[in-house]
Amino acid sequence: MKVTAAVAIGRGKPLVLKELDLEEPGPGEVQVRMVASGICHTDAIVRDEVYSTPMPVVLGHEGAGVVEKVGPGVTTVERGDHVLLSFSTCGTCASCANGHPSYCEQFFGLNFSGRRTDGTTAFTGNGEAIGSHFFGQSSFSSVSNVVERSVVKMPPTVPLELLGPLGCSVPTGAGAVLNVLDPEASSSFVVFGAGAVGMSALLAARVANCSPVIAVDIVDSRLELAKELGATHVINSRSEDVVERIKAITDGGADYALDATGNRDVFRSMVDSLGSRGHAALVGLAPPGTEVAIDIGSIVLTGAKISMVIEGDMVPHTFIPRLVSLYQDGRFPFDKLIKPYPFAEINTAFEDSRSGATLKPVVVF
Ligand code: NAD
Repeated sequence: MKVTAAVAIGRGKPLVLKELDLEEPGPGEVQVRMVASGICHTDAIVRDEVYSTPMPVVLGHEGAGVVEKVGPGVTTVERGDHVLLSFSTCGTCASCANGHPSYCEQFFGLNFSGRRTDGTTAFTGNGEAIGSHFFGQSSFSSVSNVVERSVVKMPPTVPLELLGPLGCSVPTGAGAVLNVLDPEASSSFVVFGAGAVGMSALLAARVANCSPVIAVDIVDSRLELAKELGATHVINSRSEDVVERIKAITDGGADYALDATGNRDVFRSMVDSLGSRGHAALVGLAPPGTEVAIDIGSIVLTGAKISMVIEGDMVPHTFIPRLVSLYQDGRFPFDKLIKPYPFAEINTAFEDSRSGATLKPVVVF
C-alpha cells in the first residue's frame, strides 16, 4: 500500500515527506494506522547520525494508532484495537525473562538498526529500500508495520492523540522513579532537567507523595511549569548554587534525585547533593566517551547509590497501563506536557523541541 512518511536522509538535514510503498505485515507484525506520534530527543540524534542507523530511514518511536491488519501468528491484538507503540525486545534473553526488557541483550539491534532481524525493510521508495522497524515501529508514517512485542493495547476511552509519549519519554522518567528509586512518602526528591523526561519524573514523585519535590533547570518557563505540576521548590542553576540550595531545602541532602539532562556537570551536582543513603538515577543520555570525576573519598561515607536507567526499567505491557490508569484518576496529568503539530509540520516540531519552545511535540496524522 502507499503511505506518507517522514524520511530521515542524514545529519542536519530536515526530514523529507515522501510517498512510500509499505509491504503487507509479515509474521508477528501488526499494521497500524497512526493517529499521532511523539517526537523525542532520540529521533533527533539518530537523524543526525550520532548512532549508526543507516539512512534513509523512517524514524519515530512514540506512535499511537489503530490496528489495520495483523500478520500471521499475531495473537494479542486485532483489527480496530487502539494501540500504543513502545520499544522492541527479543522476549527470550535473561533480562527479558527476568522482567527487565529495557536491558534486552538485543536492544540496540532491534531498536536502532532500521531493519528486521533478517535485514529486510518494510518500506521502499522508487525501488530503494527505506529503513523501517525503528524501535520496532517507525511511527513517522501514516501506516507502519510494527513488531507485536512493541504493541500495547489501550482502552478506547483515552484519546490516541495524547498517548504517544507514553511509549518512551514519559515512562522513562516516571519508571525511573516508580520502578527504580521507589521513594517512600515524605522523602525528598530532586529532578535535574525539567524537560519531557524530567517532568514525567516529577509527576511520578508526586504520585509517590514525595516532599519536598525540587526541580532544577536553566530555563525559567520550564521551572514555572514545574511549579504548576507540583514542584514545591525550583532552582535556576544559572543563578543559584544548586548543591548548597538543595542541602538547605532538604536539611542536609536529597533522599532521591534524577538526572534528565545528560550533562556531566549536572550529574556531578546531583551526586554532591545526595544526603545520607541517598539514591540517584542517571537517565539523561550523554555521547559515548563522556566521563565525570566524582569525589569517592566523600561519597563513600554517605552510603549513597547511583543507578543507570534505560526506558524506566519498565515492562511496557504492565507499566504503561498503570500510567494510563493514574492519568484517568487525575493523578498523572502528562497531557500538560504535550503540544500537537500537524504531521506536515514535523520539522517545525523538531526545531521547537531543539530550541526548547515546546516541551513534548506530538505530530498528529
Ligand atoms: P529535553 O531537552 O526536553 O529536557 C532537558 C532539560 O534539561 C531542558 O529543560 C533543559 O533546559 C535542561 N537542561 C539542559 N542543560 C541543563 C543544565 N546544565 N542544568 C539544568 N538543566 C539543564 O529532553 P528530554 O526529552 O526531557 O530528555 C532528557 C534526557 O533523557 C535526554 O538526554 C534524552 O536523550 C534522555 N533520554 C533517556 C532515555 C533513557 O532510556 N535513559 C530515554 C529517552 C530520553
